Amino acid sequence: MRWGPGFGGHGLDVENLTRAEVETRLRLWDEIRAMREKPGIASVYLAQTATGIGVRETRRILGEYVVTEQDAIEGKRFPDVIAISSNPMPSYHGKRFFFEHEGFDIPYRSLVPKKIEGLVVTGRCISCEQAPFQSARSMAPAMAIGHASGCAAALAAMNKIPPRKLDVKTLQKLLLSQKAELRIEV
Ligand SMILES: Cc1cc2nc3c(=O)[nH]c(=O)nc-3n(C[C@H](O)[C@H](O)[C@H](O)COP(=O)(O)OP(=O)(O)OC[C@H]3O[C@@H](n4cnc5c(N)ncnc54)[C@H](O)[C@@H]3O)c2cc1C
Repeated sequence: MRWGPGFGGHGLDVENLTRAEVETRLRLWDEIRAMREKPGIASVYLAQTATGIGVRETRRILGEYVVTEQDAIEGKRFPDVIAISSNPMPSYHGKRFFFEHEGFDIPYRSLVPKKIEGLVVTGRCISCEQAPFQSARSMAPAMAIGHASGCAAALAAMNKIPPRKLDVKTLQKLLLSQKAELRIEV
């Protein structure tokens, strides 16, 4: 498996995305030709590529709470925790930053948009500053957050209430019963 080639630019600009899609695929062939010149891997071949260009980050919602850089650095705990983010921040001031704690809490409020009613966000849309988001958007935290937002949406629908009005303790109990790790007892 091979990583890259990478492409900069803006993940919301259609022309840039199209250029990225075309250029990375062409550059890949150049890289494979160059690899074939190296000793021992003359027979390297392309089996498969991703179906589409992957974009790490674009827009995030402004929620009831915005998780901050400080929250991440100090491993902040919140009473309305619904997931924990312990992944490093891969490009924090140019370096991979590993936490010296077990992770920072993702509060339920960061999944609830400040303005829009009847919506829970998840994964790459949560309300977060960019630095902690580098950690929270990683696959493991994204899965835990997805678990929480799915449960929250189901509970809100079943109880016919907007997600903003959801009793967080009920959500936490449900998550704990499904083996979520929250570092609390409810
Ligand atoms: C190049 C790259 C490398 C990465 N490397 C790593 C890594 O090494 N380690 C790591 O932990 N994380 C890595 N990440 C980050 C991680 O993969 C993503 O941040 C994470 O998968 C985001 O999860 P998500 O659920 O928010 O979004 P996604 O995984 O993108 O899921 C969104 C889903 O919604 C679907 N969808 C979109 N629109 C609609 C619609 N209208 N109707 C129905 N479905 C729809 C999409 O098809 C997709 O399946 C990487 C990301 C990228 C782009």
